[in-house]
Amino acid sequence: MPDAASLAYRVQKHAARRLHYDFRLEVGGVLKSWAVTKGPSLVAGERRLAVAVADHGLDYADFEGVIAPGRYGAGAVLLWDRGTWEPDGDPAAALAAGSLAFTLHGVKLTGRWRLMRLKAGPRARQTAWLLVKSRDGAARGPGDPDILDELPRSVLTGRTVEQVAAGAA
Ligand code: MN
Repeated sequence: MPDAASLAYRVQKHAARRLHYDFRLEVGGVLKSWAVTKGPSLVAGERRLAVAVADHGLDYADFEGVIAPGRYGAGAVLLWDRGTWEPDGDPAAALAAGSLAFTLHGVKLTGRWRLMRLKAGPRARQTAWLLVKSRDGAARGPGDPDILDELPRSVLTGRTVEQVAAGAA
């Protein structure tokens, strides 16, 4: 078991057919992943739809670049945030139960968060969760600046997603 403090946390801003943010948490040696269409919000209690997507390998954690046209997820990928995370208790059990409380130690996102699985309808093809900031010192109010607008650039290279798409250094 790795030290809980060393578990990887990442967010990749992904300008695919539709812009979204891939929220990733290391669990059991892989990056559990959710596509958050509107991106995470620091406003306490503001719920952001997070659709569960395929696990990614840890070697993908710091990927930034362009996925070639014709390939799955074609478009620019920017490393929007990185750091570590700490689950409350056993993360695999919490995910199986559909409710995960955790602390983020990122560059942009910190403090307490929750992921809650929604009940799937009979025709649901995707598993939907809600990503929500908990009330704490790192939370913002509804009138505060949006972290997505305030800090849009890569934590790795300082580039915008447009610059990544253009292949600029
Ligand atoms: Mn994606």
